[in-house]
Formats: sequence, structure tokens, C-alpha cells
Amino acid sequence: MIRMKADTPRTTAGLPLLLLLLAAACSSPPEVAPEPSTATVYEGARVIVGDGSDPIENATVVVDEGRFVAVGAAGEVETPEGAAQVDLTGRTVIPALIDTHVHFPVEREALIDALERKAYYGVGAAMGLGRDVGDDVYAVRAETIPGVPRYRHAGRGITTPEPGRTEIPYWITTEEEARTAVQELAALEVDIVKIWVDDRGGQFEKMTPELYTAVIDEAHQHGLRVTAHIFALEDAKGLLLAGIDAFAHGVRDQDVDDEFVELVRERPDVVLVPNLPGRGVAEDLSWLSGTIPPDELAELQAGSVDRPEAQESFGIQARNLARLNQEGMRIAFGTDGNAGWSPHLEMADMVASGMTPHEVIVAATGNSAAFMELDDTGTVEAGKSADFVVLEANPLDDIANTRAIEAVYLRGEALDRAALSERWLGGGTQ
Ligand SMILES: [Zn+2]
Repeated sequence: MIRMKADTPRTTAGLPLLLLLLAAACSSPPEVAPEPSTATVYEGARVIVGDGSDPIENATVVVDEGRFVAVGAAGEVETPEGAAQVDLTGRTVIPALIDTHVHFPVEREALIDALERKAYYGVGAAMGLGRDVGDDVYAVRAETIPGVPRYRHAGRGITTPEPGRTEIPYWITTEEEARTAVQELAALEVDIVKIWVDDRGGQFEKMTPELYTAVIDEAHQHGLRVTAHIFALEDAKGLLLAGIDAFAHGVRDQDVDDEFVELVRERPDVVLVPNLPGRGVAEDLSWLSGTIPPDELAELQAGSVDRPEAQESFGIQARNLARLNQEGMRIAFGTDGNAGWSPHLEMADMVASGMTPHEVIVAATGNSAAFMELDDTGTVEAGKSADFVVLEANPLDDIANTRAIEAVYLRGEALDRAALSERWLGGGTQ
């Protein structure tokens, strides 16, 4: 191949025609140029890292091939030459949210639609807790689908018989059944084991300590963790003594006491997903307008009224969350709700309980990634998957600003939010 050297005089006079043509056909510049960069540099935003460290003001974030390759204050980060640039001055970047408690449909198309609805509102990963049955939930879990959050799940959860309720979970009455259920789940390689310890207001025989101790013991023997749906303080204590790994709800029947706090302090790895109930106060839901059909929004708004009994229930759980957060318990995040927007209500409820907006964002990102054992997402850090949300306003000033979503990126790709909302508002799937 004929290559003109930089120091070759660029006279063409007298060169044979063939040589001229070859020289013209050779598109390489005289010197070997670097490959055009595939990176994108996001500049000027405030970055909330998601690990509890101080936000980075006027940050530079470099994303390449779906990952953060550099994150830091402007001037401290080397930016690749020729990279695309995106100006995010005045915006706040947070890690994509992680909802560790959902109950999605289990049929492929509906499951992916539910995941996309979460993604639209900034969620990058979600975990089904115990009604996850059939082949599709395992297939979707194993796939990486553009624009779709990661999906993890507990498979079939474990409970005592609850006639009239869902029959998807294992209904166990003996220790042997408890262990067999866990062995089946372990063979399916579920992400966590879910149990329900709740008599549902006296309707059912609650799972006994003998049974949940067997579940937890068998799970731990298979390298699986167990998360519990609970209601009563007494059961929460028993579960801690039996080695439970996480709570999928807070204590709901009364304020936690010193004995409970002491049990938590002795078990610093136990995770609380507060999963608060609604506050029971009328809320302005107009921020959802343009993202869900108007009649659906009108129905939601009409249902958002003051409910004193709900306020009381929220009060118990909010006080418990505030105290356990003060005591340093690990707080993660889950909604128990399939609506895409539910994470934003839950975050506001957690702040209303007394956590700071920053603590809540860490719970909903870094802490939840750790809880789901997703070690390459949940924070805006070099090396992690570029799963992040660009907000038009600062959620540290007002947690409701998490709703001011300008863009959602999963694995470095911007979600086509306009196309999604058109699909849903146009009545395509609903
Ligand atoms: Zn649930």
C-alpha cells in the first residue's frame, strides 16, 4: 500500500496516473490518526454518586461502551479526544433507581412491558418477590434487552396455606416441606427466598418459628438469602433470632422497642426494605400528566384523599423507619407496586418519615444494588454500568424533584421515553 509520509513533498507533478489514483483512493491521513472515540462526555451536572459520598458539583462523566469510564469534578477527569459531548449544566445525575420489591406479570410480553414502565420513570433494576413462576421469568432474567431494566426474582415464595389468596407460592405446613421448597428454589437458582410471616388479620395460621427457621437454615446451606414479609414486631424479632437476611416491609403493628433495636444492632448485615404504605393524605398527582392516559390519571387523583386510618398506619411505620435509620440499619428500597411511577411516591414517603433526601437516594440506588448483589450498577462510578437518570432539578432540595426526569440511560443508551409514552398513551398495550 502506498502511503504518503508527512515529510514527503506534496508535489504531484510528474507522478504516474496510477500512483495518483492510488494516492487519492487512500483515505488515511498522512499520520496514523487515533480511532474516532466512541465515548460520550457529560459535563456540568451535579452527580449524586449513590454511595453516600458528597455529591460532585460540576462533574465530568465519561461513558464508553455502556460503562462509566471516568467520573469526577471538571478538570480532574481526562476526556478522550473526539468524544461526543453533552452539556448537563444545571442538571442533577443520579444512579438509575432499583426497586427490590415488585410483583410483575410472569408472561414475557407483559413482564417486559412492566419493566419498561419502571424504566420510563428511572428504574434500572427490579426484583420480583415471590409470585414468579413459569419459564419466562427465568428467560427474561437471563437476557439483556435494550431499554429494559435488569430483572431478578425470588421464584415462588413460601408461605403457610392461605386459601383464597394466590396459590403461586409454596404452601408449607411441615419442616420437611419447608426444606424441599428451598431445595427446589436453589435448583432453579433464584436470587433470593421470599417468605410470608403474617396471619393477615387472623385469617390464617401464621408461619411458625420452627418452619421459618427451617427455611432460613436450608436457604443458607444453599448460599441463598431470605427476605420476609412481616407485620408484627414479635415475628420480626423471631426472624432476626433465626438469621433472617432482610425484611420486605417494616414492622407495622406497633413502634419497635429497644429489644428489637438491640437485635438489629447485633446483625449489621440485615437489610430493611421499608415499603411504606401511602401517607393517607391527598396528593397532587398532576406530575403524571402526559405520561399516563388522562382517564387513568383522573381515577388516581380521585382516589387520592385523606384517610385518617392510613395516616395512623403510616405513622407507626414512619417512626420505625426513622428510628432504625438513626440506629444505622441498612435501608434499601422497594415499592411492592407495579406502577412505573411508584418509586417516586415511595421516595417522598421515606423522606416524610424523616430520612434525608440523600439517604433515600442512596437507599434506592447503591444500597439496593448491594442488596440485590448487583455489583456493577447502583452508583455513578468508573467501571459500573452507565445506568443513570438526568433530573432537571436537584432532589436534595426537594425529593419530588426525582420526578423531573429529563433522560434515563440504561447501559449508556438513552431510553426513547417519547416513544414509550406514545405507545402507552396511544392505547397500544393498555
Ligand atoms: Zn410484596
